[in-house]
Amino acid sequence: MLSEFELITRYFAGPAQSAAAGVPGVGSGVVLGPGDDCAVLAPTPGSQLAISVDSSLADVHFPADAPAAAIGHRVLAVALSDLAAMGARARWCVMAITLPEADDAWLAGFAEGFHALCRACEMILVGGDVTRGPLSVSVTVHGEFPAGQALTRGGGKAGDVLAVTGSLGGGRGGLDAWYAGERELDDPLLAAYLLPQPRLAAGEALRGLAHSAIDISDGLLVDLDHLCTASGLGAELEAADLPLSAGLVARLGEAAAREAALCGGDDYELLISLPAAQFETARQRLAAVDVPLTVIGRLRQAPGIAGVDAGLLRNGWRHFPEGAS
Ligand code: ADP
Ligand code: MG
Repeated sequence: MLSEFELITRYFAGPAQSAAAGVPGVGSGVVLGPGDDCAVLAPTPGSQLAISVDSSLADVHFPADAPAAAIGHRVLAVALSDLAAMGARARWCVMAITLPEADDAWLAGFAEGFHALCRACEMILVGGDVTRGPLSVSVTVHGEFPAGQALTRGGGKAGDVLAVTGSLGGGRGGLDAWYAGERELDDPLLAAYLLPQPRLAAGEALRGLAHSAIDISDGLLVDLDHLCTASGLGAELEAADLPLSAGLVARLGEAAAREAALCGGDDYELLISLPAAQFETARQRLAAVDVPLTVIGRLRQAPGIAGVDAGLLRNGWRHFPEGAS
């Protein structure tokens, strides 16, 4: 049985991981990495910090028997998605993990998934905690943006167009596919659920263009409602224009796929509002980082969300599990 110290050094914060992350080094902002009582960080002068924490519990937020590397990826991805929604650049994270046992093969897979996503986003793991108990992982992410340039939920203006990145419904479709016994991670639906790609590059590209932004973690309708409430506005959706996950349409048919896109969670796409005149610029900036952007409606003065079935609105995300799947 590994000691806590050996486990941390081998999988999370040893010389191997530090070298891969380039810590400490010029530009990393890491004055002191893992190993002391705190990490010491040097934010970029003139920037502000965006900080968020996400806890992922086995069999609540991810299937406990999912591949360990996918779990390692996913627990970080859901936290990074919040930085993306603020237009922040990923910088540093700390990770608290609770493990039922120190299983070497599992830990190696988990660490591989976690560190690979760190490298891809230039995120540096600077500390954490290890405890024993039912499997759960809590990741706190720190991002940066130039002072005053955060994208927020509350900046929407009446008349703004609403737009989403990528496609919707795949997260919900992948969750169903996993529990239906599918295990092929090459399947785009399973990948959408287990290996979500946080839209960090898109979030950064939208600074100065989007009036408001939120990431879609609980389902489009629920998260649109958050954005509307924060902006003090209502919305008109064009449900026919939703960019539906192609794999989901093939699996469920169009009507059920649209319902999953509206009410299913776990897509981790960005929902933004921006002036109609800026849409083409935003679309081109996002195309340059390979992210599609689709108009799905408008913000309006009148409260509430128009353009979707009243039953769906009333029942929100709770509707879907009893519905089409
Ligand atoms: P303390 O008891 O002072 O909180 P710990 O023994 O928990 O310190 O951790 C020792 C060092 O290892 C700390 O610098 C901590 O940040 C780091 N560490 C612990 N767990 C992790 C982890 N899961 N990932 C990265 N670093 C970790
Ligand atoms: Mg500790």
